[in-house]
Amino acid sequence: MTVTLFHNMVCYYHPDKPAAGLCKYCQRGLCSECATRAGDSLACSGLHEEQVRAMEVLMQKNILQSKRVGSDYIRNTIFYGIVGLLFTAFGASQLRWLGLQAVIYLMIGLALLWAALANYLESRKYK
Ligand SMILES: [Zn+2]
Ligand SMILES: [Zn+2]
Repeated sequence: MTVTLFHNMVCYYHPDKPAAGLCKYCQRGLCSECATRAGDSLACSGLHEEQVRAMEVLMQKNILQSKRVGSDYIRNTIFYGIVGLLFTAFGASQLRWLGLQAVIYLMIGLALLWAALANYLESRKYK
């Protein structure tokens, strides 16, 4: 009944030995004898080492892609910064003529500048 659960808890190749970990490729249980380190993960020794290494390389590419997200934050920082400054400057210059309406422009501008700052801080995490 619980075969699927059970086969991950013992070594696939030595059903009498407890599993030390799972092969990243085939998800089978491996004892310390059968497990080989491939990057940060375990692999069936001599069987799935190449596959797991290839998966590790794919993971590395994902990390590189998240660096591209970092430049998105910089683009957002510039966009929110410019629009925020325009709203703030417009609101400040119209404060005398428009009163409360200008205050709303000012508040939108400050909120956009705040968003720019948040994006800037976020972009620094990807450095
Ligand atoms: Zn084994
Ligand atoms: Zn395997």
